[in-house]
Amino acid sequence: MQLSSLDLKGQRALIRVDFNVPLNEAREVTDDTRIRAALPTIQHVLNEGGSVVLMSHLGRPKGPDAEWSLKHVLPTLERLLGQSVQFAADCVDDVALDVSQFLKAGEVALLENLRFHPEEEEGDEFFAGQLAENGDVYINDAFGTAHRAHASTAVIARFFPEDKAFGLLLAAEIDALKKVLAHPEKPLTAIIGGAKVSSKLGIIEHLVGRVDRLIIGGGMAYTFVQAQGGKIGNSLVESEMHAQALEILKKAEATGTELLLPIDTLAADAFAPDAATQIVATSEIPDGWMGLDIGPKTREIFIESVSTSRTILWNGPMGVFEMPAFAAGTNDVAEALAKATADHGAFTLIGGGDSVAAINQAGLADQVSYVSTGGGAMLEYLEGKVLPGIQAIED
Ligand code: AMP
Repeated sequence: MQLSSLDLKGQRALIRVDFNVPLNEAREVTDDTRIRAALPTIQHVLNEGGSVVLMSHLGRPKGPDAEWSLKHVLPTLERLLGQSVQFAADCVDDVALDVSQFLKAGEVALLENLRFHPEEEEGDEFFAGQLAENGDVYINDAFGTAHRAHASTAVIARFFPEDKAFGLLLAAEIDALKKVLAHPEKPLTAIIGGAKVSSKLGIIEHLVGRVDRLIIGGGMAYTFVQAQGGKIGNSLVESEMHAQALEILKKAEATGTELLLPIDTLAADAFAPDAATQIVATSEIPDGWMGLDIGPKTREIFIESVSTSRTILWNGPMGVFEMPAFAAGTNDVAEALAKATADHGAFTLIGGGDSVAAINQAGLADQVSYVSTGGGAMLEYLEGKVLPGIQAIED
C-alpha cells in the first residue's frame, strides 16, 4: 500500500527505520545520512495528524549492550527533526508500551535497539506481535534490511493486514529499481565491477538476457579474460570460476546481450599507490604485472556505451579506485553517468557500497538519478530474489 492511502489522523504509526548509523568512540553519530533519509516519512505522518513510534537495529549486539543503545542516536534525531523525542528503554513490553500508548498527535518516540532481543533476527512471531502493540499502523521505511525476514521488517506486517505501507524512502528505492528491471527505457546498460566474480555471479546471471549491454570491469574482468585463454599476469583471478564465466559469455551471445570486457589495462608491478605502471592489452599482461584499472581505450568504449544508453545501472568500481593512480576508470564511468543524466535525461541508478563511495569521491552523487542506500538488499533485488520486507507489504 502507498503511504498516501493510509489514514494517519490520530493514529500511532510504527515505523521500521534504518538508524544503523556509524558511531565514533564517544558514541556520537559520525554520518547522519540514514537519519536524514527517514525524515520525509516521519514528517508526513506528523503533518497528517498522527504520532510516530520509530524502531531500528544498531550494530550487531548479542543481547542488551549500552554500547549499541539507540539512545546514542537521540540527540542527532532530535536536532534534525527539530523537536524532542521520547525514548523507550526497551522495544517491547511495558517499558515500550508506557511510552507508545500515550503518544499524542505530533509526538515522536524511539524504541530501544531491536537486536537486544535475539527474536528479532529469528523472525519470531510472538515477538513481532509484541512489537506490533506499539502502533496502529505499520510503515516499513528500511530498505537496508528489506532482504531480511526479521520480526520488525517482515513478520510484523501480518498484524497489520489493512494498515501497512512502504515509507517514502523504501517506495523510492523500489521505484528506482523497477525503472531499471521492470520497465526500463532502452537501451539498458548494466556496468558491473568490483573485485570478485563470485560475489556478483547471481547479479550477472540475472542481468544477461535482460539488459542490452553488460559492461564488466574491475578485478572480476580478469577471470573472464583468463577463461578465454588470455594472459593476465598476476592480476586478481578466481580460476575456479572459469566455467561460470564461459557460461555467461555463451548466454550473452545466445540472448543478444552485448557483453563488453576491457580491451586494455593499466597494469602495475605492485599493489601499491606508487607502483610502476604500463598500459597493455588485457589479454597480454606480462608476468609480475597486475591489472589495477581499465586502460584508456576501454575507458573510451565504456564512456561511448554509456552515452548512448537511456537507462544505466552501475555497481562496482572499474579498478582500485581507492588509490588515485588507479581511479581514472571509475571516475570516468561516474562522469559518463552524470553526463548521460544531464545531456539526454538517462535514468542512472548507482548502488553497492563501493560504487556509492566512488560517486561520492567523484563529487557527482547529486548528478545521477538515484543512489541506492541498501547494499545487500539492492544486490539481492538485482539477483531477481523476492525481498521479504517488500513482499510483506505487497501481500
Ligand atoms: P566489490 O566489493 O566486489 O564491489 O569490490 C570492490 C573492491 O574491488 C574495491 O575495493 C576495489 O579496490 C577492488 N578492485 C577493483 N578492481 C580491482 C582490480 N583490478 N584488482 C584488485 N582489486 C580491484
